[in-house]
Amino acid sequence: MVHEPSKPGQLQIGYIQPVNDLGTPFTLADQVIDALRVVIGQKSAVLHEPSFNGNEWLYLKECLDSTFVSSVGKFVDRFEADLAAFTGAKHAVAVVNGTAALHIALKLAGVNTDDEVLIPALTFVATANAVTYCGAIPHFVDSEENTLGVDAVELRDYLKHHTEQRAGQCVNSTTGKIIRALVPMHTFGHPVDLDGVMAVADDFNLALVEDAAESLGSYYHGRHTGTFGLMGTLSFNGNKTITTGGGGAILTDDAELARHAKHLTTTAKLPHPWEYRHDEIGYNYRMPNINAALGCAQLEQLPVMLRAKRELFQCYQAAFDTVSGVRLMEEPAECQSNYWLQTLVLDSNNADQRDILLQATNDAGFMTRPAWILMHELVPFRECPRMDLAGAQSLVQRLINIPSSSTLLQVQS
Ligand SMILES: *Cc1c(COP(=O)(O)O)cnc(C)c1O
Repeated sequence: MVHEPSKPGQLQIGYIQPVNDLGTPFTLADQVIDALRVVIGQKSAVLHEPSFNGNEWLYLKECLDSTFVSSVGKFVDRFEADLAAFTGAKHAVAVVNGTAALHIALKLAGVNTDDEVLIPALTFVATANAVTYCGAIPHFVDSEENTLGVDAVELRDYLKHHTEQRAGQCVNSTTGKIIRALVPMHTFGHPVDLDGVMAVADDFNLALVEDAAESLGSYYHGRHTGTFGLMGTLSFNGNKTITTGGGGAILTDDAELARHAKHLTTTAKLPHPWEYRHDEIGYNYRMPNINAALGCAQLEQLPVMLRAKRELFQCYQAAFDTVSGVRLMEEPAECQSNYWLQTLVLDSNNADQRDILLQATNDAGFMTRPAWILMHELVPFRECPRMDLAGAQSLVQRLINIPSSSTLLQVQS
């Protein structure tokens, strides 16, 4: 493999540069591209693409042939039953997308106008948006290095000093508002510290709703993510581990919550052969049958995809083993991650390399991207309350997602 001589500006002070046969030092970018080539080959690669290698065509055809493509049809019921079986949740309610799932889950968790909801600053905007759809205010929480998720230790300390309990409710001492719920998110498929997070929720009287949009197929201590809280939510957007085009689901063990979630997401219509009677303000959030048909076929393929994604992780692990200055994100102890998005974490002294690496890898044909801009830096959320976010701020400068499709290893060029 030929290496461009490194540019002086990219030279690192303080560590020994590996050199090639000609004695020219490799930059970190050279080494990262090299490692990506070892795994991916000479072809280019996108960040994440879906694969349809099962019964997708068959079920979609069945859907079209039956004319049941919309709000009625057997695939929605089947998809919900299959999701419940796969995750071990007692109930699953399929909806139009993951954001809608979060919206309804938060509403059913009792989130009201003017409440505050604790969410990580390091998340996709959907988590924060869903809070505001309830008329509530996101309250941003720090994240930690080990899981990339909510730092339960820091959060406990923060709540101890900045909240008080009034009549069994957690009240923000500064704003006087009720902090109603806590929404941890399993970042890139890596389970958050659920023991820590659940204990905080218990001790401070917070409803726990898991944003498991990224973690279908991820397990914490052998149990599927999204089944620990009062409710958990999934997403089947096109870039997620499995896709229904667009889609989401609410998981819960509570039969009454499941019934209410179904009711609210289907316009709150009372069952009747012809009468349109709606007993509360509902939402048109039901997943159409045609999307559920795709979902049934995708769910059948999930175990194969999870194996392929784990294998990809192992290949990356071998390739990045010799690259110093970055680590490949590995599943936390006693957890099984779905490895939705493979992630490089730069060492703290290499944070200034992130944008150089993003540029170089994208130029080389490997689609990489940084994590999201932290929520409190986005215009709509600038004024929202937050704890010290030093952990998330450090992490966000050092995270790079690399090509992660489950099919990446299949066709080597
Ligand atoms: C994908 C995702 C969602 C839901 O997104 P939709 O596109 O509405 O399905 C929610 N939270 C996180 C963290 C996500 O990554």
